[in-house]
Amino acid sequence: MNIRKIAVYTLVASMSLAAFTGCKKEEETTETSLEPTVTTTVPETTETTPETSTFVTYTAAEYRDAGVNELNSVPILMYHRVYGMKNSETEYTGGNVDKDGYNRTSEAFEADLRSYYEMGYRMMRLTDYVDGYIDVPFGYSPVILTFDDGIRDVVLEGWNADGSPIFDPTCAIGILEKIKAEYPDYNVTATFFLNSGLFGNGEENDRKVLKWMVDNGYDIGNHTWDHVKLGDCSADEIEKQVGKMYQKLEEIIPGQYVNIVALPFGSPENVSSDNPQYSTIFTGTYDGFSYTTKASLLCAWTRSYSPFVREYNANAIRRIRGYDHNGTECDIEMNFKELNDGRRYISDGDPNTIVFPSSDNKSGDWLKTTYGHQVITYD
Ligand SMILES: [Zn+2]
Repeated sequence: MNIRKIAVYTLVASMSLAAFTGCKKEEETTETSLEPTVTTTVPETTETTPETSTFVTYTAAEYRDAGVNELNSVPILMYHRVYGMKNSETEYTGGNVDKDGYNRTSEAFEADLRSYYEMGYRMMRLTDYVDGYIDVPFGYSPVILTFDDGIRDVVLEGWNADGSPIFDPTCAIGILEKIKAEYPDYNVTATFFLNSGLFGNGEENDRKVLKWMVDNGYDIGNHTWDHVKLGDCSADEIEKQVGKMYQKLEEIIPGQYVNIVALPFGSPENVSSDNPQYSTIFTGTYDGFSYTTKASLLCAWTRSYSPFVREYNANAIRRIRGYDHNGTECDIEMNFKELNDGRRYISDGDPNTIVFPSSDNKSGDWLKTTYGHQVITYD
């Protein structure tokens, strides 16, 4: 067993804790025997200890005060097009641009991003979540952004002399870049799921845009070649729809896209890599090009499970539709209200540990996958 050395600092990270909870540490206190225990389990692993293996751990009281719980849920937002509009310019509820709220006004989208930040959420990459690597500061919660279809997400207005793109400031990436400049600690990032037409700025422009995006903190995923319902396709057709899209991404940004498929229309709903009809979503070969898919995303209604728990299924990751419905029908407001009401994943600040109250795994089988991380429980 590879025992990792654990450094215990009772108050080192109290600044971020104070920032989040608004509480103030008066002075250093020594632990008393009345303090409930923190239990550490180091799983057996053949991994070598990372060079910087100084884990900062906290007392049970500090975990409790910050509500640290890494078995709780993560919001993965599903957006589509962002239009340069005020909410008052649409005929629909809130920031919805269409009846069902698949498309969003730029005013609402920007407000969404500010609101997640203010509620104590910090962005992280979807691909890291799928790998069980959640790197968010102590006391904060992860939020993950996804965009399907590519249209109106990246609207190119031209190129600067230095080769960098000029974006329409009201499209999704225009607003993301604005927020990135304003909140350096927000870790602005998102995954864009594309079809063969990419972002619609013309093939030559979009190839350059894709390279810029992966070099600037954004991820690109697969939304099938023709945006088809894979649930209605034969295994061969799925292989073409998924494989041809990966092949195109590999040609433009070799090795820099993510092997994740956002299922168009959330189809098939009961996706499983064991089902022979759907297995080609996950592994296949198209035109001599072999691919694998490590996760697939459903359409949206609710928060996603922590990647560490029993119910988590990497092939059927749930998302929240980025729309308004007066706090009902699983809209953004309703989902965040539920999350903030004791359901949200709150980080201990260390991506290599899984920390949660021992009462949350009473059955002993709710924590399912540790990804080789150290497990810490507190009472
Ligand atoms: Zn789509």
